[in-house]
Amino acid sequence: MKKHLISLAAAAATSVLAGAAVAQDEYPNQSITMVVPFSAGGPTDTVTRLITEPMGQVLGQGFVVQNVTGAGGTVAAGQVANAPADGYTVLIHHIGMSTAPTLYPNLPYDPLEDFETVGLVTEVPMTIIARKDFPAETLQEMIDYVKANPDEVTLANAGIGAASQLCGMLFMDAIGTQITTVPYPGTGPALTDLVGGQVDIMCDQTTNTTGQILGGEVKAYAVTAEERLENLPDVPTTAEAGLGDFQLRIWHGLYVPAGTDEAIVQKLSSALQTALQEQNVIDRFAELGTTTVSQERATPELHTEMLSSQIELWRPIIQEAGVSAE
Ligand code: ASP
Repeated sequence: MKKHLISLAAAAATSVLAGAAVAQDEYPNQSITMVVPFSAGGPTDTVTRLITEPMGQVLGQGFVVQNVTGAGGTVAAGQVANAPADGYTVLIHHIGMSTAPTLYPNLPYDPLEDFETVGLVTEVPMTIIARKDFPAETLQEMIDYVKANPDEVTLANAGIGAASQLCGMLFMDAIGTQITTVPYPGTGPALTDLVGGQVDIMCDQTTNTTGQILGGEVKAYAVTAEERLENLPDVPTTAEAGLGDFQLRIWHGLYVPAGTDEAIVQKLSSALQTALQEQNVIDRFAELGTTTVSQERATPELHTEMLSSQIELWRPIIQEAGVSAE
């Protein structure tokens, strides 16, 4: 009797495994949802729309982009952490994946435990910008004005956990002055308000700000890069503009829920790697001051290592700044 039960269990296990193998072979046989943790029209959304098309071509299935905003990207990450681990829900997230565990003491997911990493996508510097009629022409004049009027000046960000918040936090720390922050569901709508003059200053990725800087719709004081950018040659680096070693590179990565079959993760990762090698993708990102990463760096293994070291890098910096979402 016992032997019979064991063989039934073994048969069931074999058919589950066979089913899983078929699922991987057939993957993907329907569209894939890419969850974006910020508003449509912002930098993360732009990166998403530039990579999902070529990735979809490689995989033979299209992507549906879903913007799930809130709590600096943590609502979207929490949603994907709890999605079925079948490869049909993918999260794109940026540096906020590594800062949230320190910023949110009760974060309902663990970035390393609750996800499989697919790979790194891009790296991009930030720009420090202001509304067009802000009364300062250079970064130093802007800092002087902010220090003299800390209660008047407003700083837009995309919530605690956003790259704009991290950059703003480091900026306020660097100048030793706290100013009022105005949270948005993404820096897409924040930039619209900055152009409209409803908010004063912002730190945001070049992926979002290049067009408005070149079009003269906002003032750009500095790029948080070591060297000037080819797409914004007239904008000084933070060091040139007098902010010493203030540098910040934002990155984006792709993630699926923990437990997703390794073969599916590899399929997604190799689609990402192929997409990142396409010349029109590289060129379009370059126009936006954004670097697509090499094939070797867009792997699950390297991105897991990077994520883990970024969590460790930011923890003491955030704790020192005393910023917390709760
Ligand atoms: N990446 C932006 C930020 O963190 C938000 C966005 O993509 O809208 O500021």
